[in-house]
Amino acid sequence: MLFEEVAKYYERLEGTSSRIAMVDILAEMFSKSKSGEIRELVLMTQGVLAPPFEGVQIGIAEKFAEAAIATASGYQNDEVFKSYKKTGDMGITAEEFIGKSRLRTFSRKDFEVKHVFESMLKIARTSGSGSRDIKIKMLVELLASSSPLGSRYVTRFALGILRLGAGDATILEALSKAYTGTRENKPMLENAYNICSDLGKVGEMLAVHGIIGVQNIKVSLFSPIRPSLAERLPTSPQILEKMGGRCAVESKYDGLRVQVHLDKKGGRVKMFSRNLEDITEMFPDISKAALVEVGVKNAIFEGEAISFDEATGEFRPFQETIQRKRKHGVEEKSIEFPMHLFSFDLMYLDGEDYLGRPYSERRKRLEEIIKGDGLIRLSDRIIAENPKQIDKYFEESIEKGLEGIVAKELNSVYVAGARKFGWIKLKRSYRGELSDTVDLVILGYYLGRGQRTEFGLGGLLSGTYNSNRDMFETISKIGTGFSEKQMKALSGALKKIKVAKKPARVDALISPDFWVEPRYVITVRADEITRSPMHTCGRGGDEEPGYALRFPRLVSDGIREDKGSGEATTTDEIIEMFKMQKKVKVAD
Ligand code: ATP
Repeated sequence: MLFEEVAKYYERLEGTSSRIAMVDILAEMFSKSKSGEIRELVLMTQGVLAPPFEGVQIGIAEKFAEAAIATASGYQNDEVFKSYKKTGDMGITAEEFIGKSRLRTFSRKDFEVKHVFESMLKIARTSGSGSRDIKIKMLVELLASSSPLGSRYVTRFALGILRLGAGDATILEALSKAYTGTRENKPMLENAYNICSDLGKVGEMLAVHGIIGVQNIKVSLFSPIRPSLAERLPTSPQILEKMGGRCAVESKYDGLRVQVHLDKKGGRVKMFSRNLEDITEMFPDISKAALVEVGVKNAIFEGEAISFDEATGEFRPFQETIQRKRKHGVEEKSIEFPMHLFSFDLMYLDGEDYLGRPYSERRKRLEEIIKGDGLIRLSDRIIAENPKQIDKYFEESIEKGLEGIVAKELNSVYVAGARKFGWIKLKRSYRGELSDTVDLVILGYYLGRGQRTEFGLGGLLSGTYNSNRDMFETISKIGTGFSEKQMKALSGALKKIKVAKKPARVDALISPDFWVEPRYVITVRADEITRSPMHTCGRGGDEEPGYALRFPRLVSDGIREDKGSGEATTTDEIIEMFKMQKKVKVAD
């Protein structure tokens, strides 16, 4: 498929305000493309050059793009800069300049989509001395060969801001429709995606081998598995009942979730975060320990990395764990705050997939391979048969400075990428308040008044992710809980992802001063969940109001970097939390 054609589909996508229409446009684009280019087309539509765990950074600097547009069209850099100041969108500026190009020496070539993708990959991978000129030259070649519309998307893609608004679920649905004739097969594609976390690969297998190809996607080392998630219940009797009268209860560590891929024979270790980014560099100590302490040929296992003071037995706050995110001084930090990994699950061992095996068997094998008291150890746990045991263990965990507990059903399989009752979490409950925080997606922002005008940020419109509809629904305006530092950081980040109109996957009855691309997640605490006709979260038409938060305030230290918008609290979770809240009140 010519990139020119792809650009036309992208323009249609940008123009629609309906998610269903997005699925149809994408399905048409996929069905018209060749099977050999579907991987590139899917990744490009996601706005990436590789799945996130491969860490291939696309975004070239704005100054590069400016210079490339100028050279490709025969204008001066400052003329391009002037236009960009006006449009605020380098893609639109490129379109303008390529449209009025003064150069006749280049003849338009109409590149194939694969060529554009591969050129971008080369641009991303070129580094070292002289790389600036080489990168610009490659981009100039693409721009000069593009139509004005094509140059809009080439530029945005190169800058890493393609932002077509199509989430993973929308792309999966479109693939299902394009290759199986119906959206109904989406769950099957989703299963494969949960195992390999690579949408390009799912698309390619489907296009080349059909559904059978997708079913053959297996767990493999160094391809992260999408994590299993926990449900909530408010009391220990309810937890025990749901678990069939007997369950494991583990301490809930408040650190960073880490999925370790270990090939001991090959001497290789990689670690992935909750949202599947490669975070190996954050934990050099755990990497080394994995090679020495874990008794396997190869394995994929999971745990919580947390700073722990061996001498006092004290767990350090989450903030200290997350400091490792900074690239500098990781080695020094390793000495100051040694990080431990409390392992709680096993997904793959010595070439065998363990996802389908019951929790009790996975745990038993985990206990066999992780034995010592080194940096890698097992999560603490008990087996409970009555609510009192759960309550006692819960209190002990809180006393140790932990977050609460996670109960686990002994027979449950590892459900990749889903929140199921195989795991149930119970966190410290704050009297009179919502017993848990929620992670919301920022959908827009309001300008400040008074002192806040200087930051250009007075409040946030936030929402939940409705995974059934693949839409974001509003739940709360948040105006308090920001420190000056947070306000500055947030307003800077949000201005960069401002969009002209409400994104197609946002459902809202109210409008903020500015909409943003639904990308950032924040943690919010509130007094309670109420019903409100203003919000769309869980709304059932005109008769049934939505859900809202009472007295919401920001508690995360800015943006939660380990969660993407699809990992925010879902609408279903809010509805469950609302029901739980009623039950707790009655019990009081
Ligand atoms: P939260 O913000 O409450 O950690 P979450 O949305 O990140 O929630 P959930 O699946 O709802 O994730 O809760 C389970 C989380 O608890 C896991 O993601 C993991 O990071 C953490 N955790 C800590 N200890 C354990 C444990 N022993 N077993 C499973 N998960 C644990």
